[in-house]
Amino acid sequence: MSELYPADRLGRAQAQVRRHGVDALLLTPGADLRYLTGYDALPLERLTCLAVPAHSDPVLVVPRLEQPAALASPAGTLGIEILAYEEVDDAFALVAGRLGQVAVVGLANRMWAEQVLAFGVAVPGARQVLAGPVLRELRICKSAAEVEALRQAGQAIDRVHQRVPGWLRAGRTEAEVGSDIADAIVAEGHALVKFVIVAAGPNGASPHHRSGERVIAAGDPVVVDIGGTTADGYCSDETRTYVIGEPPADFLDYYAVLQRAQAVACEAVRPGVTAAAVDAAARDVITAAGYGDYFIHRTGHGIGLEEHEEPWIVAGNDEVLRPGMAFSIEPGIYLPGRHGARIEDIVVCTENGVDRLNVVDRDLVVLGA
Ligand code: ZN
Ligand code: ZN
Repeated sequence: MSELYPADRLGRAQAQVRRHGVDALLLTPGADLRYLTGYDALPLERLTCLAVPAHSDPVLVVPRLEQPAALASPAGTLGIEILAYEEVDDAFALVAGRLGQVAVVGLANRMWAEQVLAFGVAVPGARQVLAGPVLRELRICKSAAEVEALRQAGQAIDRVHQRVPGWLRAGRTEAEVGSDIADAIVAEGHALVKFVIVAAGPNGASPHHRSGERVIAAGDPVVVDIGGTTADGYCSDETRTYVIGEPPADFLDYYAVLQRAQAVACEAVRPGVTAAAVDAAARDVITAAGYGDYFIHRTGHGIGLEEHEEPWIVAGNDEVLRPGMAFSIEPGIYLPGRHGARIEDIVVCTENGVDRLNVVDRDLVVLGA
């Protein structure tokens, strides 16, 4: 039983299930299942499902061949029943049989459509709703152990950014630099690479550019947005912008605006402030400087077992920040066809303000051409 996956979490989840008027949650492999049990289940065509009924004991239904992995995971120490089925069994009927009479079932938000439809048949007449709203109150505020896990991930990705100047230079392709970065993401303490964005020159104006064959040239600003997942399951996500040699004329001007916007938004984070207000803090600085039309996405997203989760740091979101909420602050300015810049840190709302999990310098890194 680890601090990261405490045994009382399932009981707290059941209280939420009852509060939401749901009869049972059905959670297939993904963040909700892992959050409640610590089991990083493989998403397979064979059903793995944690059933969390409102009024009876949870059961983890797994294919026989996955039973050893389930038992070896933290789920094996929680005292919950792990029920293995054979290849010839109807796993959906097996789950349905454990639920009894149910009127409303909450399905994992990212359950596969074929499983959603199969549960519709196996549990006829039950209304299907999303499990996300039932579990969000638990997942949205991180425990101290979760914040530490995010800090470990944040420090690991900081170390990768500190090494980027060793790989980024004119004459190399984005993909070559990206490959070095991917190796370092694992070497510095992640279990897997989630994404590597190396966006040079005009590609920097596309926030989710796929690193490709573009040869990095002198004068290119380069947006580097990278992240991975640690063995604990927690994610990192950090962006820095670099420039090779002498930057384009207007680039330094808007990079300074961006840096101020990112700092102001981080400073705005404290309990009682809304997510929308944090978005506005960054956006107001950028708009006042005349770049508002070039900041084309929300300011940030929550992070935890998922790379992107609640809270969304976006206009119109009245979610009031509370201690333990962890999210990115990542304003960007993108000039189509020319270049772009983004600065991204993961922060945690604390009792007193903000805890920044990424600490690598945010000044523009100017590299020799
Ligand atoms: Zn990012
Ligand atoms: Zn992000």
